[in-house]
Amino acid sequence: MARNPFIADIVALRRHQGHRERLHVHAPLDGLRVSGSEVPPGADVTLDLVLEAVEGGIVVTGTVRAPWRGECRRCLAPCEGEVDAEISEVFVREPEDGETYPIGGDHIDLEPLAREALVPGLPMAPLCAPDCAGLCPTCGADRNAGPCGCPETDVDPRWAALDALRHDA
Ligand SMILES: [Zn+2]
Ligand SMILES: [Zn+2]
Repeated sequence: MARNPFIADIVALRRHQGHRERLHVHAPLDGLRVSGSEVPPGADVTLDLVLEAVEGGIVVTGTVRAPWRGECRRCLAPCEGEVDAEISEVFVREPEDGETYPIGGDHIDLEPLAREALVPGLPMAPLCAPDCAGLCPTCGADRNAGPCGCPETDVDPRWAALDALRHDA
């Protein structure tokens, strides 16, 4: 079985309190998604961490990064970006739920930490560009490519109310 790149050996680290180790992980982590975007399956997640042995545990600080891709909420074009999260977490033998992470024997598992850092950074409603013009609500043309020729769609709210009445009839 291949070594899990997210499992960090802490035997040497635990021998000396105050000892620090740098850790760089670059490996795929699947299943990172929210409703509007996801880390592409097979794409590498990057962890740049410092592990420090303290009394009773290991402090892990650094950054977690991953590419994401999604669909623009206005024009539906594919769009992409990068999620970049700062982390500062503690691993202990007897973790408290939601507060600290577990030390398992002579190792710590950085995968849950990476997931919990990355998922909140994924955009739920991404935009291909901050000024994306979106699709024409009348003909569906991509207005980023130029005007589609439809009249402006600033519907007078009084007409909208009448339209709604007609639909109900
Ligand atoms: Zn767009
Ligand atoms: Zn149009």
